[in-house]
Amino acid sequence: TLGIRPLIAGNWKMNGTSASLNELRMIGNGFMSGLDADTEALVCVPATLLAHAAEILSRTPVRAGGEDCHPKESGAYTGCISAEMLKDAGASHVIVGHSECREQCGDDDATVQAKASAAWRAGLIAIVCIGETKAEREVGATLDILSRQVDGSVPSNATASNTVIAYEPVWAIGTGLTPTAADVAEAHAHIRERLTEKLGTAAAKIRILYGGSVKPSNAVELLGVKNVDGALVGGASLKAADFLAIAEAY
Ligand code: PEP
Repeated sequence: TLGIRPLIAGNWKMNGTSASLNELRMIGNGFMSGLDADTEALVCVPATLLAHAAEILSRTPVRAGGEDCHPKESGAYTGCISAEMLKDAGASHVIVGHSECREQCGDDDATVQAKASAAWRAGLIAIVCIGETKAEREVGATLDILSRQVDGSVPSNATASNTVIAYEPVWAIGTGLTPTAADVAEAHAHIRERLTEKLGTAAAKIRILYGGSVKPSNAVELLGVKNVDGALVGGASLKAADFLAIAEAY
């Protein structure tokens, strides 16, 4: 979108140990040498790697992020991680509402919205994920689902400086399947329109990323679609060469 700096964000999911930090070094180095300075880059890593990742990337333009956070700042929530903890470990962003968290951990729109607000409270940028399931697409409910998720998951005072939206069709995540460019264009235009109804002029500059089986071979087509302001990349972000090739597609 005109005037928006694209963001290429990786999501390592539950992958990576200290042995994987070398890929991160290569990603950082790749962005240092030659990649388009107008493209912003971020890798969201497991919390166990975050402090290492932030340190490795600190000398590069690439930033480190968390993959999820708890809505509360601290307390009796064994095993959970707060946005403040992610910030303390060096994160700049946190993903909230990823479909895997919606499906496997029961995050509903209200929880996702609370997590986005928690991210802001800690000084992080929230990457709010939305997207329809295969069954929802098959019955033609995609745009209704996206409306409901924008309304429910995005706090009403979201701005381009504290929020990124990621459109991730659930059926495209980790499957190798992708929507057509026309389907992506329709979804992103609809999200932009719904954000505008909700947020007014602030919506014009909010980045809307596409996510779901983005790889070097389809990145040029998907990232070239109108209203696509970058990508959220799962599997292909684990390999520096693939992630850098995707970033180069912009
Ligand atoms: C994701 O995890 O957000 C994602 C889009 O995964 P993948 O790129 O592997 O489909």
